[in-house]
Parts: sequence; C-alpha cells; structure tokens
Amino acid sequence: MRYVSTRGRAPVLGFEDTMLTGLARDGGLYVPEAVPVLSRADVAALAGLPYEEVAVRVMAPFVADAFDEATLADLVRDAYVGFGHEARAPLVQLAPNHFLLELFHGPTLAFKDFAMQLIGRMFDHVLRRRGERVTIVGATSGDTGSAAIEAFGGLDAADVFILYPHGRVSDVQRRQMTTPDAANVHALALTGHFDDCQARVKDMFNDFAFRDRTRLAGVNSINFARVLAQVVYYFTAATALGAPHRSVSFAVPTGNFGDVFAGHIAKRMGLPIETLVVATNRNDILHRCLTTGAYRVGEVEPTISPSMDIQVSSNFERALHLAYGGDGAAVAQLMEELRAEGGFTVSQGAAQALTETYASGRASEEETHAAIRDALHRTGEVLCPHSAVAYHVAQDHLGDAPMVTLATAHPAKFPDAVETATGRRPALPPRMADLFDRPERITRVDNDLTAIEAVVDRERAA
Ligand SMILES: *Cc1c(COP(=O)(O)O)cnc(C)c1O
Repeated sequence: MRYVSTRGRAPVLGFEDTMLTGLARDGGLYVPEAVPVLSRADVAALAGLPYEEVAVRVMAPFVADAFDEATLADLVRDAYVGFGHEARAPLVQLAPNHFLLELFHGPTLAFKDFAMQLIGRMFDHVLRRRGERVTIVGATSGDTGSAAIEAFGGLDAADVFILYPHGRVSDVQRRQMTTPDAANVHALALTGHFDDCQARVKDMFNDFAFRDRTRLAGVNSINFARVLAQVVYYFTAATALGAPHRSVSFAVPTGNFGDVFAGHIAKRMGLPIETLVVATNRNDILHRCLTTGAYRVGEVEPTISPSMDIQVSSNFERALHLAYGGDGAAVAQLMEELRAEGGFTVSQGAAQALTETYASGRASEEETHAAIRDALHRTGEVLCPHSAVAYHVAQDHLGDAPMVTLATAHPAKFPDAVETATGRRPALPPRMADLFDRPERITRVDNDLTAIEAVVDRERAA
C-alpha cells in the first residue's frame, strides 16, 4: 500500500517507511492513498473472532509490504498477550442501547497500549531486519510516555527517552514511567510544562547533527501505524453489536483526534458507522470547528481530563484531507493559515463532508464530575474523567443505532478526580497493586536543549 502526505508534497512511501518516518517532510501526515474496502461478507465473518484474529484481517492489507500475514499474526499475539482481559477490548452494557468499550486492560491502563504495544514490536522487527538501531524521543503529559516505555522496554533496536513535566503528572502516571527497569528506556523529568517538553523534542528533531547521530525517531500519535492499530476495536465492537446488519455509533473522548480518526478509517473500510461523536472537555476547539466551521486556536486550559488538554489537534489534518477529497494543496493552505493567523475556516463542502461522519459535544468540569457520579449510580461503572466526558456527550446523541462510548483509561489512573466525584478512591487492578512499592528511577533535566542532548548521548552510550 502507498502512503501520501496530507499536504501532497512529500515522497510517497510504503508502510515500513511511513512508520519509521512519522511526520512527512512537507510537515504533513501520512495517509493511505486508497483505503481498502472489506466486503459485507468479510465484515460479517469477523463477528465472534478473537481480537487478534480480527486485528490481522483488518490490518493485513495496510502493512503487506512490510509484514506477511504470519509475521503480523506473531507480532499481534505478542502485543496483546499481556493484557488483563481475554477479550482485550470488552464491551459492557450501560443502558438498553448504550455500551462502554473498555480500552484500559493493557499494561499501563490506557487505550494507548493498543497501538504502542504493537508498534514497539513492529519497529523492533523492521529494525533488526535492517540491522539498524534508533533513538526514540517523545513528550508526554502522562499516558503516551508510560505506554511507550512499557512497550519498548527491553527491545533491542531502540533507546527511548520520554520527557515529562516534573510535578505535573499523576503519581500513577509517573510511577508507570519511572519503575520499569529495562536499561533502554528513560523517563526524564523536565523542569517546566508539557509545552516545554514538546518544544524540546521538536528542537531535537531540528538539530540535524544530533538527529542523524542518534537516528532519531518518533512514536507520537501522528504516526499512522498507531492510528491503524486503533481501527481494530471499532470492528470488534460493531460486529459484536450486529454490524454489518446494523449501524453503530461511537462517542470518543478526543484530544489529538487519533482515536476518533481510526473510527473514520473503519467507516471507510466498509464498517457501517452511523456517527462518530467527538467529545471534548472545555478545550473545545474541535467541537467549535465541527459546529461553526471555524478552527481557532486559544489558550490550553488545564482540566481533570488532562490527556485531552490540547490547543492544536494534530490528527484533525487527516480528517480535513478526506473532507477536501484528498486535495493536498488545499490542506497545506489551511495549515499555513493556522501557522500565520492562528486559525482557518473550512469550506462549505468540506464542512458538509465532516458533518456526514462526525457529530460533537463538550463537557465542562462540573458536567464531567456529574457524569462520573451519574454513571456510577445508574450502572455501577466507575469511569475515568476522559471516559466521563464522552459518556456525558453521548447522552445527547442516543438514537436508533447502538451507541458505544469509548472508555480510554482505567479510573485508578486518575484517582483524585474520581474520588472528588464519588467519594470513593478507585483501586489499581491486582496485577499492578505493588506499583507504589517498586523503586523509581528518575533523571531530572533542565529545560535546556544542550543539557537534554547530553543526557541522551550519555545514556545511549552506557
Ligand atoms: C490520549 C488520550 C485521549 C485522547 O486521544 P486522542 O487520540 O489524542 O484523541 C483520551 N483519553 C485518554 C485517557 C488518553 O490517554
């Protein structure tokens, strides 16, 4: 399969290079040139299969130039064997026509494990075959970093350095990054904010001498391989609820738009998805854009659902590319307006295309707390604040099609918000109960590029 940039001016690549490259050279994001379509019979045949089997059938056409089916099946099996639930992504019923898709049974208790566990193994496989080694750097506000450290820890082909803002991630998130003892993964506590972490990662990529010396690579959510791994659970959930004979809707807690865009790919592949509901917290740039057509950047406001606290939603560019019929020049123009003027307005045609697939809503902090309480009283389920945002927004979009709300993290990952809402402190699952007894390994770094690069060079050599 060939992958093209959303901005239309970067080399066309196969899957392997798309995965290793991450961001396209024209600043765009890679997308499949044409999305493969499964027949109705193919979709029907997925119902009731093990998660791993569905994953192979859904992903094989996208990755065929890099992995044959047997190899893909091995990688998929290894990726999910450590999950704490046999169904991997189990469905729980909340109301007659409303379901919860639990995506938090992976090793770091958030949905990012679905993609990260798989791409860690994909990277390792490809790099060994090439006889290469890379240095992966990333910035995290919590969940991505722990998922990357857990996924790449102990693999031969990569050193991993994750920058997180010192004192600004939850204790559970920090410990998930600082307690793994594999020698090739490193959590760096930066004196500063998440934005500083992100800026220093960007600086490292722009320091070409450093970038080439260390063979820098990225695994942030713009990597198409991550989006692809997330397409799978839309298929397992929808077929369990009657697809392809019945349409299904999804409510997705959204930040960088990677998760909900995976649903769009599933729809393009032939899965009958009625509506994808984009649920935001008070950082509602996506909700405003989908309802008014205007995408305007504001200040990031901290919330109790921190993994959705974004100013610019990077994967939204992929949805724009589809909405503009694959017109890379039009997308490049919008992104230039975003850079120069802090926003853009989508054309009428594109706005209409977006609303054919997406609906949206937002939840305030009070509404999020109320949703956690409400779900507990009505169903006995304890939701994390991100999942609660989607639960709240989903209420406005219930209809004939079954609604599936995505639960993106385990409530014990955000115990303070859950305790404030319900008076109960959620417990970690038993397999993680000793997290607070494990020794931590923390490297403090100043918000200074030279100092950070020195740490990376030193630890890589060690
Ligand atoms: C990352 C994250 C999100 C947002 O996902 P996107 O793909 O960035 O839209 C939502 N909830 C949790 C718990 C997350 O970690």
